[in-house]
Amino acid sequence: MDLITFAAPFFVAATIIELIVDRLRGSKFYRANDAINSLSTGMLYMSLGYFTKFAALVIWGYVLQNFALIDMSTSWFDASPRGVALWVVAALGWDFCYYWFHRASHEVSILWASHAVHHQSEDYNLSTAQRQTSSGFLFGWIFYLPLFVIGFPLEVLLTVGAVNLIYQFWVHTQMIDRLGVMDRIMITPSNHRVHHAQNAPYIDKNYGGMLILWDRLFGTYAAERDDEAVVFGVRKPLANWNQFWANLQVYDYLLYDSIRTKRWRDKIGVWFRRTGWRPADMEAAHPKQQSNLVEFKKFDPDIGQGMQRYVLFQFLAAISLGLLIANVYIGGGLRAIAALCIMLWAHLYTIGLLNQGRPNALVFESLRLVVVNGAALFAMRYSEFAVAPAAWVWIGIYTFVSMLWIIKLKNLVKTITSTA
Ligand SMILES: [Zn+2]
Ligand SMILES: [Zn+2]
Repeated sequence: MDLITFAAPFFVAATIIELIVDRLRGSKFYRANDAINSLSTGMLYMSLGYFTKFAALVIWGYVLQNFALIDMSTSWFDASPRGVALWVVAALGWDFCYYWFHRASHEVSILWASHAVHHQSEDYNLSTAQRQTSSGFLFGWIFYLPLFVIGFPLEVLLTVGAVNLIYQFWVHTQMIDRLGVMDRIMITPSNHRVHHAQNAPYIDKNYGGMLILWDRLFGTYAAERDDEAVVFGVRKPLANWNQFWANLQVYDYLLYDSIRTKRWRDKIGVWFRRTGWRPADMEAAHPKQQSNLVEFKKFDPDIGQGMQRYVLFQFLAAISLGLLIANVYIGGGLRAIAALCIMLWAHLYTIGLLNQGRPNALVFESLRLVVVNGAALFAMRYSEFAVAPAAWVWIGIYTFVSMLWIIKLKNLVKTITSTA
């Protein structure tokens, strides 16, 4: 079991505890729709990862075998003082590469298109930490190549990489205030809140993963200020609960400009120049709206309590499906995972539609339950994974309850619209 899978239950437990404390204190750091959107964006990232994460491993393994300058044995990384020192050097090396990857992810348009997903939430809590991009596999591996060229063993780098990612979880909270001297050394909740801000003085600051040292060295450090309350989110709001669109929105902006701008140099420049840069002809013809920070209003469509309860029920069902997929993955059934992932993605998609109160969301939901789930379960017959008889009973009960609930919600929607 890898470290991140091992840590996942702790992430879930910590998020639930933070949510309970938030409700008890009335601090309003959580909104159900935003948290569901962040967590389901994380589920999309995890499930797509089953198909994409091998690419980086193959390339890293190839570089290590053919271009490593030092032939480091994993046995060097033991509990001796030298072994521990080597672990520390590897962890520092990873954190340094992470800083540059993260900095480029904000400052280069095509990389921002991938990373923006992590910043779209207008709330800030432990669920935000799980809001990860699904297209990170395209470019992320490049920035760590120097460590493989030096020759650090793959297992060591994967371990320090996992520790780095796990460390970043706890800093996504507003429950912990400033931490004095620790804020000067490490990435802490206060330092990372600044990083998630859309206020001008905080933009493009605090890129570090574990250490704030790199930001201090390379001029990108900013401390949280009492006179500048953080407004979380991105300058061009997502204003949507669709997890797929969350991953595509910025690519779409760039594609739009790239296709329509006149000069070839600009068509390419759109992708690789500094984030925010636009060709002059596009800026003049289609100026972009930016969020108004003075009267900032979070994206928060009202869908009514009945629908909220249904969305929560479906979200819990989607989590169960996600856990099942993780289990099947450990068992090595790739074809079964493909069928189950199609079920999961359709599930996340309709949760987004329902959460947003989109017209016809209930029609899509009914189609998902009957057509998509039916087809995926039929496809499972041809996979390595047999659906147990008891599971069929549960699937049947779940589908029946969902359909009854939809009929009730449909009547509710009808009553509201006819009395309006
Ligand atoms: Zn970032
Ligand atoms: Zn973050």
